[in-house]
Amino acid sequence: MKILLLGQPGVGKGTQSDLLAQHYHFTKFSMGDILRDEIAEKSPLGEKIAHLVNAGQLVPDDIVSAVVDKFIKEHSQNRILFDGYPRTIAQAKTLDGLLTENNASLTAVLEMHLDEQQIVERLRNRRYCPKCGRLYNYITSPPKNGSTCDLCHVPLMKRSDDDEQVIKKRLEVYYEQTHPLIDYYRTQDIYTQVDASGTQEEVFAHIARIIDAKIKAQ
Ligand code: AMP
Repeated sequence: MKILLLGQPGVGKGTQSDLLAQHYHFTKFSMGDILRDEIAEKSPLGEKIAHLVNAGQLVPDDIVSAVVDKFIKEHSQNRILFDGYPRTIAQAKTLDGLLTENNASLTAVLEMHLDEQQIVERLRNRRYCPKCGRLYNYITSPPKNGSTCDLCHVPLMKRSDDDEQVIKKRLEVYYEQTHPLIDYYRTQDIYTQVDASGTQEEVFAHIARIIDAKIKAQ
């Protein structure tokens, strides 16, 4: 089973993919996490892409294709949850090809959706723990103690691309380059939209109902 979580930046894909990975034992593939790790490690790849990620622009297809190719070769037998990849039609076609080569295909594409005002509000209030990576939001899922991680007790941080100007750019890139994927997957009959305005638990329950039905149908 291969699931793709699609949606605007800040819609809650990271949070839901963590919950789903735990519940269904998915191997999670988050392109954003992989790229941020490369940047934090100051690897040659990280140095090459930092300015793009920090400006809210997409990293070139040849770079992300190499990353996903390696991942699929290693994990094609597992249940996989894709978060943040693909983000363009060209990437979607690359993914289809890589999955086919490995006798697999996407089972479902779930587009989490929120209105833009809520997206900006969520991104402004998003924080993460630099030690364990746990995600928080001062409005929807605040930490218990002010601004430290509930588990590691270290101060929470804001992603550098959650800056006002960069948020605007990321949304622009999403509508121009990623939104067209909805029609691409709709024609393959594997697309469902999920209202992401509820609590984490409500959104999880909605997505879980869809995945449970897919599992039953297999
Ligand atoms: P995310 O964590 O999914 O919000 O991604 C953060 C940033 O990583 C994006 O704004 C892009 O700069 C880069 N990125 C993530 N996924 C991709 C992708 N599939 N293609 C190109 N760039 C990506």
